[in-house]
Amino acid sequence: MSVTPVDTETLRARIAELMPGIRADLEALTRIPSVSLDAFDQAQVEASAAATADLFEAEGFDVEIVREGGRPAVIARKEGPEGAPTVLLYAHHDVQPPGAENLWDSPAFEPTERDGRLYGRGAADDKAGIMAHLAAVRAHGDALPVNLVVFVEGEEEIGSESLPATLAAHGDKLAADAIVLADSTNWDIGEPALTTTLRGLIRVVVTVSTLSHGIHSGMFGGAVPDAITALIKLLATLHTEDGEVAVVGLDAGTASELPYDEARLRAESGLLDGVGLIGRGPLLDRIWAKPSITTIGIDAPSVATASNTLVPSASAKVSMRLAPSQDPDTAYDLLRAHLLEHAPWGAQVEVHLDDKGEGFAADATGPMYDAARAAFADAWGHPPVDIGVGGSIPFVAAFAERFPQAALLVTGVEDPDTRAHGANESLHLGEFEKVCLAEAALLSRIAALGAPGA
Ligand SMILES: [Zn+2]
Repeated sequence: MSVTPVDTETLRARIAELMPGIRADLEALTRIPSVSLDAFDQAQVEASAAATADLFEAEGFDVEIVREGGRPAVIARKEGPEGAPTVLLYAHHDVQPPGAENLWDSPAFEPTERDGRLYGRGAADDKAGIMAHLAAVRAHGDALPVNLVVFVEGEEEIGSESLPATLAAHGDKLAADAIVLADSTNWDIGEPALTTTLRGLIRVVVTVSTLSHGIHSGMFGGAVPDAITALIKLLATLHTEDGEVAVVGLDAGTASELPYDEARLRAESGLLDGVGLIGRGPLLDRIWAKPSITTIGIDAPSVATASNTLVPSASAKVSMRLAPSQDPDTAYDLLRAHLLEHAPWGAQVEVHLDDKGEGFAADATGPMYDAARAAFADAWGHPPVDIGVGGSIPFVAAFAERFPQAALLVTGVEDPDTRAHGANESLHLGEFEKVCLAEAALLSRIAALGAPGA
């Protein structure tokens, strides 16, 4: 059957009316310090799951809280008209640790408005994602145009480790024609975005050994190589002279053509004066679509404890971001082969895989993407841009794998000033209202498409 979608102006008025209540519920959620990291009180993560469950229960959803060896996740379901498409709405209710208290201008878990932004840990990432879903639900009231399934995870900030088990155990309840994952960012204030690519990840530990034990650097230095210098030489082979990744055979993609210049990159990254950029090609290709390699830690004697010794063995942790389409296993094989091949002075090199994650490259075409672009245009007056994210979001790959036939729409409440994970995280309230309207309009527009194949 087909339904008559609610028109945009009606939705706009309803969302405007609903915002004070949405805001109050968002503040209540933000007051719960639901940090999922082990060292924090997990009763608070339970409390945020319960609070999230209550919010959807109040809208007439069937709600359950599930755990598959990890933190509690909320699954909420409500049926729309018979034969209507099904939409899955994703967000997460856990948050990052607040970090040093003195870096916050107002308490992390006391939501505070300044200059049109709501400050607080989780006020954006991702409790505003939960509330955007709820706003869309409330805007349609008793006339939901689609079947809705809401999945609110409780461990996104610690890597969604039990998500595959949760999808395996409860996936049949989550199957949908479109999945809206509200945990990314918009391009700028007034510039909505769909996130269509994410980079994958490989992390390895490489250990270089040159000696069976440490020896006096004055006795043997000059003829016998030490492991730290050998490790440094090896790590230096990972980039060309101009800082391009030197591992041969890795995929490299291209990003969408958006204005992004060196001045903005320098400002956003805090690059020091005089320090040049690395790599080649458009900047967004470099940070969204091409591989990058970073040494993120080294095990060797510390400066304070170092003595005049030829160190026998040293290790480094190396993180490699991958082009969105790159198969992580292939990338690992290429990185490993490069490290073994470039062992300086015949040093012994061992490589261990520490972590890997799939990237994501949406086929951002078809009726669901058209509906999403039109819904964003309803809210902002113009369609969104396609952006990439240089990092990896494990849940996106997990959903893509479990529901290959569903359209994955990665949306978000953030903007370049949100500072998710940092001190003074905040939500732009004006943009948030547009996010809510866009999602409400999206449900109408998906309903208008009818069930796939119908
Ligand atoms: Zn998040």
